[in-house]
Amino acid sequence: MAKVAIKNGVTYINCPGCEETHSLNTDPKSGKPCWKFNGDMERPTFSPSILVRTGHYVPGQPQPPNCKACNYVDDDGDPWPFPCGVCHSFVKDGKIQFLNDCTHKLAGKTVELENIDAA
Ligand SMILES: [Zn+2]
Ligand SMILES: [Zn+2]
Repeated sequence: MAKVAIKNGVTYINCPGCEETHSLNTDPKSGKPCWKFNGDMERPTFSPSILVRTGHYVPGQPQPPNCKACNYVDDDGDPWPFPCGVCHSFVKDGKIQFLNDCTHKLAGKTVELENIDAA
């Protein structure tokens, strides 16, 4: 097991804040944005910081109460499976440091990255 998975020049990490994977381009040939990766599968370090915005946090998207994702309810009454949010982090030495602008429960905390299954 390792804390990163690499497939076709894209590096994946398991984000414990979002409870899903984030993908990072680490191959300069694939264009920008491109992160620097220290190549260590057990103690990965990436730079610069990782900023993931979804739903109405994406610049230019309609804001609540006009956000489609926030208003969405399916036939069973369940909400949109990907809640709108911000995840902003630094990954260093195998740990992920979440900045205060994250909208998830780990904002402001630093935790160990989880292992990820090979992509
Ligand atoms: Zn995340
Ligand atoms: Zn929304």
